[in-house]
Amino acid sequence: MPMKVYIDGQLRDESDATISVFDHGLLYGDGVFEGIRMYHNRIFKLREHIERLYWSAKAILLEIPMTQQQMMDACLETCRANGLREGYIRLIVTRGKGTLGLDPRRCPKPSVIIIAATIQLYPESVYRDGMTIATVPTTRMLVNSVNPAIKSLNYLNNILARIEANLIGVEEAIMLNTEGYVAECTGDNIFIVQKGKLYTPPLSAGALYGITRNTVIDCARAMGLEVAEPNLTRYDIYTADEMFLTGTAAEMVPVVKVDGRLIGDGKPGPVTGRLLEAFRGVTRHDGEVIFRD
Ligand code: PMP
Repeated sequence: MPMKVYIDGQLRDESDATISVFDHGLLYGDGVFEGIRMYHNRIFKLREHIERLYWSAKAILLEIPMTQQQMMDACLETCRANGLREGYIRLIVTRGKGTLGLDPRRCPKPSVIIIAATIQLYPESVYRDGMTIATVPTTRMLVNSVNPAIKSLNYLNNILARIEANLIGVEEAIMLNTEGYVAECTGDNIFIVQKGKLYTPPLSAGALYGITRNTVIDCARAMGLEVAEPNLTRYDIYTADEMFLTGTAAEMVPVVKVDGRLIGDGKPGPVTGRLLEAFRGVTRHDGEVIFRD
């Protein structure tokens, strides 16, 4: 059965799921998106993802031609049309078809695209043995340029950092902000554990308001762990007992080496393990049910 893709209210076969070459999402990266997971027949944190999508759109003055409830229903409908109970949704809202010229007023109608598929971001070994990463030269964008809180279609800042990670031969890159503080990785938020306490950079350091980040913070507090959000430097990372990354696609990935320094004893740590178990527990019962059978 060919994959069905939702485009502007219609479910189309993958081969017929096309948009205009004049769409400003393509021409200028003008648009917003979300990456969402399905676990155990539920769309995980769907409400939170849709809320963030509408906030991203609001920040770029893009009016999405559907209510948040209609958008949630469209996500559920796309999963059902593809028979998916587990997997990954890519939800995209572009500025729509316009003219060759960047003025968004030339784009009368935004386009909504929903792709429901599967994903495996990293090999299984990374979750078992931990990941090696490095700091890269490309800094995170300033909050007063394209604010990293906006999940926009303009991901070149992250892609440049990812290319630098590839050149070094590591799976992810730590991006610093222009002040030199740790912001986030190219597609994941950053956490460290030091003396049993959890630390993650503040959102003002130039990070996406990660939904997995929020979930892990909630899990940590429920377990009685203290969580703080101070500015972090590379020194704080090098001297941490444990480190892990969070993201919808990545879930929770232990990090065991940064810029040649072993983190802790170079193995995924016990606090990371307990948090991962708690996180997996939440994925079992959170979210909107896909099939009611
Ligand atoms: N930072 C960036 C730059 C991202 O693109 C993402 C999403 N892949 C994250 C952090 C993690 O956010 P979330 O947990 O909401 O997926």
